[in-house]
Amino acid sequence: AIMVAGAVGALSEIWSELQRAAGATERLIELLETEDQVNDPIAPKTFGARARGDIRFNDVTFHYPSRPDTAALKDLQLDVKSGETVALVGPSGAGKSTILQLLLRFYDPDQGQVMLDGFDLTEMTRADFRQHIALVAQDPVIFAGSAMDNIRFGRPGASDQDVVDAAKAAAAHDFLMALPEQYNSELGERGVMLSGGQKQRIAIARAILRDAPVLLLDEATSALDAESERAVQGAIDDLAKDRTTLIVAHRLATVKKADRIVVFEEGGIVAQGTHEELVKEGGLYARLAKLQFTAEV
Ligand code: ATP
Repeated sequence: AIMVAGAVGALSEIWSELQRAAGATERLIELLETEDQVNDPIAPKTFGARARGDIRFNDVTFHYPSRPDTAALKDLQLDVKSGETVALVGPSGAGKSTILQLLLRFYDPDQGQVMLDGFDLTEMTRADFRQHIALVAQDPVIFAGSAMDNIRFGRPGASDQDVVDAAKAAAAHDFLMALPEQYNSELGERGVMLSGGQKQRIAIARAILRDAPVLLLDEATSALDAESERAVQGAIDDLAKDRTTLIVAHRLATVKKADRIVVFEEGGIVAQGTHEELVKEGGLYARLAKLQFTAEV
């Protein structure tokens, strides 16, 4: 799972300042990153317009700096076409979340390139290419602030109506309307505590507002209640449409719907294909599918 916690207490204090700032989401990602290991280039290239969303991991090998003896990814070759939905599956520690971390350039590979639309990420500023990416984390950060503000974080200039529309599309509208002060209800530690599934729907609403061509989704491992499960699934399906989507998937329902499933083990790809193809093949995927992906193997 992507770990972006740690700075959350301090973050709520600077929340109001952040909210005023343009490009707040990029700054949030940077502020959340406690281990930033990388620098922006001096003469960056830039997309100009909206990225197509072609992703390429070109022969990538990566070790976390704190674990130089173990490759988190090894000689990895992965191409994801614009608009494709790819489910990343495999046992805990196989390298799935590391893929997302490198795509956000929290780290640089030791070898090889991570590319968006044919650009090496190291050739652009992070603020630039991160505009083209939305992240729905496994345990999304909810700030002290209203529900409205929490969702608007996806696109700071969005109107109230845009926020409500996004919440509807994310299946968050009904539970928000049931709160004592609806969209004005205070969330976070001193406010309404949300369930895991509700937090994910807030994060999905943010991503809908953000409307980025690339969507990274770290699916919740914890069990959602049946209503949340259905609602989250439907919202994710809609959000993934027409975007390049990489999902660290823990649910069979998500995996089955992907255009392609990529099976990781020990930092490398051991199989890929559709659900039917991989089940037929037997092997690790078939075992994971039998366990519904929720258990670790
Ligand atoms: P999970 O399903 O449990 O989230 P995963 O497939 O996403 O697992 P990764 O989180 O990508 O696996 O981890 C790949 C390897 O890198 C593992 O050996 C893990 O222990 C290690 N690792 C992950 N994050 C860090 C980190 N921040 N520092 C050091 N090592 C890490």
